[in-house]
Amino acid sequence: MRLTDLRPKWRPTPVADVDAAITFLCPACRKGIVSVWLVLGGEPRKGAHVANVLPPAWDAMTIRPSIADEGRCTAAKRTGCPGWHGFITNGEAS
Ligand SMILES: [Zn+2]
Repeated sequence: MRLTDLRPKWRPTPVADVDAAITFLCPACRKGIVSVWLVLGGEPRKGAHVANVLPPAWDAMTIRPSIADEGRCTAAKRTGCPGWHGFITNGEAS
């Protein structure tokens, strides 16, 4: 599914060397929220993932390494969602 269908949002972070904090609907249940910190290029650092572009270039966005949100879906208590573990590649969540 497309990242743009998951209502992505972003904000700058106050943390040095981290470029953006993004959230989008959990691809597993589409009810909870997944949160990811991004850095542009380079290596993962400070708990952030690496993106090739920054928001709002959602359709071109590739994030590495994989996003492991298992058990942290914010809707888990309500829906029993096990969370999501997957990739964002060229704006596609898989
Ligand atoms: Zn979920």
